Formats: sequence, structure tokens, C-alpha cells
Amino acid sequence: MAKIFCVANQKGGVGKTTTAVNLAAGLVGHQQRVLLVDLDPQGNATMGSGIEKSDLSKTVYQVLIGHAAVQEAVQRCPSAGYDVLPANRNLAGAEIELVDLDERELRLKNALHSVAHDYDFVLIDCPPALSLLTLNGLCAANGVIVPMQCEYFALEGLSDLVNTIKQVHAKLNPDLVIIGLLRVMFDARMTLQQQVSEQLLAHFGDKVFSSIIPRNVRLAEAPSYGMPGVTFDKASRGAQAYLEFGAEMIQRVQTMNIMQGNSAEVKP
Ligand code: ATP
Ligand code: MG
Repeated sequence: MAKIFCVANQKGGVGKTTTAVNLAAGLVGHQQRVLLVDLDPQGNATMGSGIEKSDLSKTVYQVLIGHAAVQEAVQRCPSAGYDVLPANRNLAGAEIELVDLDERELRLKNALHSVAHDYDFVLIDCPPALSLLTLNGLCAANGVIVPMQCEYFALEGLSDLVNTIKQVHAKLNPDLVIIGLLRVMFDARMTLQQQVSEQLLAHFGDKVFSSIIPRNVRLAEAPSYGMPGVTFDKASRGAQAYLEFGAEMIQRVQTMNIMQGNSAEVKP
């Protein structure tokens, strides 16, 4: 059975897509079978995986409104070898259309049932909003990975996300836990970043992943070549950090029985 993780943070530009794409590639590097679900109408995870979003007749949009099965819409990332359930701007319309459909928060969860045995990991790249699309991601997931930059306002935004996750946990998806906070775009030379990092550790303890993703230009360049940084320049510091993070995720899944959902009450 696949373990399903959302990469979520309602703040924009914090490294969600970079994390989703490179964790997918990193997990493949550790011999895992991975499906990456692009749940953002921007389609950045689709393009960053080397799939031209405007050419697609079937995407996650058709899957959510019940016009296609996951298997029919899946594409393959040519450079890294994971599967992608792609998205393009059509998905923006789903937000409105879903409102009138049955089980509107559970559309993705229900659709993923049919592929649960085909993968070890399903990663969901969420849009920068606590929207119905993100809610579909949170309802489908066993856990949430929260990428964050160690900046002054980082902790403030986190409490909204943690509250949303608690509500989803209570009302819609008792499996859901925050699997961890991932420090991204980290620059160890900046005192402020070190201070915020220490605050994070003080508040959240072992909910903070020990892997740290450095600010690394190769990770930022890779999407324009349609590749995850992990395959674009495997020797780069950014790629190595995401490979290490992949190993840490595999270990977390093994050591935490996340299916019981009892181990991870997160307090903001
Ligand atoms: P959105 O909220 O718009 O979906 P996001 O949270 O998915 O954004 P990304 O698109 O992953 O964020 O990253 C924002 C920008 O930061 C991109 O230009 C990306 O290439 C760059 N970036 C992300 N992580 C790193 C890193 N570790 N080092 C350098 N640049 C990075
Ligand atoms: Mg994104």
C-alpha cells in the first residue's frame, strides 16, 4: 500500500513544488515506486518533471470531476522515472465545479484507491492556499510535509496551517498527521535563519526533519530544463540534500506507524 503525503504550506513560493519534485526523484533514487500528484493549476510540478502541461487531454482535473481514472491521466517523468498525475490551468475551474459534487473533499482520496498498490509513495503538490483543492490533498493523505523558510514570519503562517490540519484530522481524515517540517532554502551564514531554525526545533522537536535543504542555484535552474534538481545535477548540494531527505522519509515511514494516526499531535 502506498503511503500518501501532501506537500503543503499556504504561503506562496516557499519551496513546495521543488520539494515535491525532488523528493519524488530522491525516492526513486532509493528504489521506491512514486506517483507525484500535481494539485496546483500553475502546473509547476508537471513542467518541472518535463511534461508539457498544455498538450494534455487528461489531467488531475478530469480525475477530480470523475471524467477519467488516474491510470488514464498518468504520465512518466522521463529523466527521473516517477509517474505524474499532471495539472494545468483547467484545474482552476475544478474549485467551483467540485462544490456541487458529492463528497467534494474526498474526490482525490477516492480516485487514488485504484492505484494504491502500484506505488510505495504518493506525493501531492498543493497550491498556495487553504482551498478545496488543498483540502482534497489533506483528505487523501496519511501525512503532511511542510516546507518552510527560516524567516521571521514563518512561524506565524504555520499556525493557520496547523489549525486546518487539526480540523481535517478531527472531522474528515483521522489518519492525518504532520509528518514533519522541512527547512528549505537554508543559508547557514544568516544568523536570523539559524535563530528561527532553533525556535522551530524548540517548538516542534522531532517533528522537524533532520535533513536541511540548502539554498542552491542548481535546484532553481533545473525546472527550466524540465528536470528535478536531483537528476539535473546529482552531485549538487541541493540534490544530495533531497536524496538524504528521501532516505529520512523512508525511515520515518518505517518507524512511525502513521496509519494509526496516534503519534503526532502537533501543537503550534
Ligand atoms: P507556489 O506557492 O507558487 O506553488 P512553491 O511553494 O511551490 O511556490 P517553489 O516553486 O518550489 O515554491 O519555489 C519558489 C522559487 O524558489 C522557485 O523559483 C524555486 O526554483 C526556488 N527554490 C526553491 N527551493 C530552492 C532552493 N533550495 N534553493 C534555491 N532556490 C530554490
Ligand atoms: Mg508550487
